[in-house]
Amino acid sequence: MFEQGKRGYLMLKENQIYRMNSTFNPGYIECIVGTMFSGKSRELLYRGMRAEEFGDVKVLYFKPTVDTRDDEFIKSRDGMERRASLFSNGRELLNFVNGVPSLILIDEVQFCDESLIYAVQLLKFKGHNIVLSGLHTDFRGQPFGIMPQIMALSDTPIKSVFSVCNISGCHNDGVLPQRLRNGLPDSALSPTIIIEGSSEEITYEPRCADHHIVPDIDRYLLNQLSL
Ligand SMILES: [Zn+2]
Repeated sequence: MFEQGKRGYLMLKENQIYRMNSTFNPGYIECIVGTMFSGKSRELLYRGMRAEEFGDVKVLYFKPTVDTRDDEFIKSRDGMERRASLFSNGRELLNFVNGVPSLILIDEVQFCDESLIYAVQLLKFKGHNIVLSGLHTDFRGQPFGIMPQIMALSDTPIKSVFSVCNISGCHNDGVLPQRLRNGLPDSALSPTIIIEGSSEEITYEPRCADHHIVPDIDRYLLNQLSL
């Protein structure tokens, strides 16, 4: 079931379409991206629950320690939840996984450090199926943490899930996370990571590109250019 030569490409080849399973694909890295309220945690939980129900595969749930909102649980807004193991880097993640090829589900990947890039590949080469979920852009609309690298490693088309833009009357997809400080768009010069709820004045909502407002974005980009 695990063929080295075929691993890694989902493509039309000689009129043959590689078919992915909706539960377990040993040796594959898969990626789910989207904004807040888009249901990306739900996608991850649904995948795990399907595997629990139909497969004889071990399902492991993980999230980085920096995401403390729901403690040790991955939760969806519609009430699904699973207890997750917390890890602070790739090495810690490897310590949780034994030799049996498993379905490994990791939420909030944008908060993980670069060591996860190497850990997930080691797991892939051992025949595990790793599904990673996260925000692909930060509140400025810039690539978020290691998500670009994780997306580059995905063996299947990246699953994008979006909510609707939060502006009343706008029906565009909310593809970008809008950060509000005291109800007003936050400056691009603010820190990348401020967890919602850790400071009561900070909130996030999904917005379309037309309604995504980031004061000082020009200054931020010029600063980055000169780093
Ligand atoms: Zn909009």
